[in-house]
Amino acid sequence: MRNLTVNGERLWASLMELAQIGATAKGGVCRLAASDLDGAARRLFIRWCEEAGCSVTVDHIGNIFARRPGRNPALPPVMAGSHLDTQPTGGRFDGAYGVMAGLEIVRSLNDLGYETEAPIEIVAWTNEEGSRFSPAMVGSGVFAGVFALEGALATRDNTMPGLTLGGELERIGFAGPAPVGMRPVGAYFEAHIEQGPILEAAGLPVGIVTGAQGQRWYEVTVTGQEAHAGPTPMKRRHDALVGAARMIDAVNNIGHAHAPHACATVGFVQVSPNSRNTIPGHVFFTVDFRHPQDDVLSAMDRELRDACAAAAETQALEALVEEFWYFPPTPFDPALVGRVREAALTQGYPHQDIISGAGHDAVYMARVAPSAMIFVPCVGGISHNEIEDALPADLTAGCNVLLNAVLDSADTVPARNRIE
Ligand SMILES: [Zn+2]
Repeated sequence: MRNLTVNGERLWASLMELAQIGATAKGGVCRLAASDLDGAARRLFIRWCEEAGCSVTVDHIGNIFARRPGRNPALPPVMAGSHLDTQPTGGRFDGAYGVMAGLEIVRSLNDLGYETEAPIEIVAWTNEEGSRFSPAMVGSGVFAGVFALEGALATRDNTMPGLTLGGELERIGFAGPAPVGMRPVGAYFEAHIEQGPILEAAGLPVGIVTGAQGQRWYEVTVTGQEAHAGPTPMKRRHDALVGAARMIDAVNNIGHAHAPHACATVGFVQVSPNSRNTIPGHVFFTVDFRHPQDDVLSAMDRELRDACAAAAETQALEALVEEFWYFPPTPFDPALVGRVREAALTQGYPHQDIISGAGHDAVYMARVAPSAMIFVPCVGGISHNEIEDALPADLTAGCNVLLNAVLDSADTVPARNRIE
């Protein structure tokens, strides 16, 4: 097992220079997908990649691939990357870290004169955030065949519907010539800030991401009977809000019952007629369940339906529970996860396994290539916020782990490619 290290100061300097593009007064970054600023960040990234000796390809959805050749050009590349776009009040590290970490491992390999067996590609995926153009993770999603290219290009700007993602990519010069997908990928690694509090609380610089949790979203409609708040005795009421309140409490209990990994949230409620002296006749609310295991999500599903039926019965209400969206849990590739863990051990970094609570490009990449992620802590667990921050030592640690995990993959030649 080799034990090479990157240049952490150069990684930090590149992150800070990149963060100047779209810098906000509060120290964050606003660099929306396919905006002029996104274009400027992409051009800076490409210039750095070309200076590091990479050849750059841009595909029809604007994904950028910067390739450092390997000894054997017939081998599929080992990819490392993330995204350059940000939330409107985003930070300096979300996405940018994974791309700059990919660049730093290439620069470090150049410094060392290290030739890998397989090529290495640094990738910057288009529109991961889904803020200006929804949904999220579109560049990697089209690459992985989750979304059709035409539909993705036709996606409209959420605030300026006259503009499309395809038109804006064209305008900033990133509607590239290469077809999307159809590139073999030997392995995909993504380094990212955790965007949650777990690693910081545990005092660990590295998280071995074993997978991303699954999600089930619901819409629940509760129907009772509107009636006057004065003359209607308590016993005769069909109060939809009282029923919904019990259901919402049940949602929260379901989340606690499947601790520590379950999340259960009601974030949107509409009460009708929403009048202070009328007993509510209708309530509409949403449910967001998350868990890394599908069988637990299925159990949570049954518990939700039972709880809603039971709560409806006490007030003689009707409860309609409809599944709105389902996103299966994504376990990352065990061999790649093992290489990340091995790299952390070799480097002597304290670490723990962790499940990604958020979506990432790696989640779609996992459908078409062996994929894995490396998390580093962010200060206070805060992300999607201008005050998002990370410690240089942690960023360096994650990048060192990335380097060695990538090398393990790039130098592991599949038997069929070996010349005996
Ligand atoms: Zn991100």
